[in-house]
Amino acid sequence: MALLEIDGVTKHYGTLEVLSNLSLSVDEHEVICLIGPSGCGKSTLLRCINRLEEISLGEIRIHGDRITGPGVDLDRLRRDIGIVFQGYNLFPHMTVLQNTTLAPLKVLGMKRREAEDRAMAFLERIGLAHKAGDYPDRLSGGQQQRVAIVRALMMDPMLLLLDEITSALDPELVAEVLDIVRDLAARGMTMMLATHEMGFAREVANRICFLQAGKIYEQGPPAEIFGNPKGERTQAFLRSLK
Ligand code: ADP
Ligand code: MG
Repeated sequence: MALLEIDGVTKHYGTLEVLSNLSLSVDEHEVICLIGPSGCGKSTLLRCINRLEEISLGEIRIHGDRITGPGVDLDRLRRDIGIVFQGYNLFPHMTVLQNTTLAPLKVLGMKRREAEDRAMAFLERIGLAHKAGDYPDRLSGGQQQRVAIVRALMMDPMLLLLDEITSALDPELVAEVLDIVRDLAARGMTMMLATHEMGFAREVANRICFLQAGKIYEQGPPAEIFGNPKGERTQAFLRSLK
């Protein structure tokens, strides 16, 4: 059974149809990269998956269980599905350690000692253990974004959604964030990324989905999409990046 099934999802903002009868199935350990022109619906799709936005039609399921519509435990859902955005959105008045342990303490009821040990292990893995006591404004953008990823990982999510997580970063800081994503992929984390880092998408993704006007216009393995795109729109989009 697929980990995630997006089944005929349509999403309107007022009269604007942003997602149009979109279906997509994601298996465990898959890394899916969403690409496409600005405004094509990448962020909306990711936000619908963890219910930051409500869909208008269709259904989304995790391991066969419906997660859209009424009667869904949203706390549980957001434990299972982590999301990291373009802006770092760390709490400015909390240290790195406080930022990363807050949810496990509050939501999971984890013991402080256990939460801190777990956070320190993650921070060590990404080379930021020495920043544990610092406030976010003492960190570079890349460091903040790495901490934001750790914060999501603290909940042990079964799926990680990453929305243009390097877009706000100075070019020299992009690599250190992508390194973490690469490492997570190697460890088998199931991920859906919206990205405009095509070189990275090509390297890390199992599957590329090209979105166009709220639909998956073309999808396939990176070599196919980047090497030999079939659709005219896909070709035009990739050409426009050169
Ligand atoms: P992408 O992430 O691919 O750039 P988005 O999902 O952010 O695209 O946006 C898809 C479309 O939905 C765009 O036309 C955008 O203007 C519109 N949109 C996004 N969020 C809202 C909102 N909260 N209210 C109204 N329209 C929105
Ligand atoms: Mg977006």
